Amino acid sequence: MARNEYYEDGEATKEQCPRCGDTFLAAHGDRQHCGKCGYTEWN
Ligand SMILES: [Zn+2]
Repeated sequence: MARNEYYEDGEATKEQCPRCGDTFLAAHGDRQHCGKCGYTEWN
């Protein structure tokens, strides 16, 4: 499990995870990822 991705802060605007609601998505290049539930959103 890649723990370092959990709380990685992206420079782009943070979006909240639609599943968790209280978790921010971490920006990874062309996608945003929720380290809590695994939700991924592509830009
Ligand atoms: Zn989530």
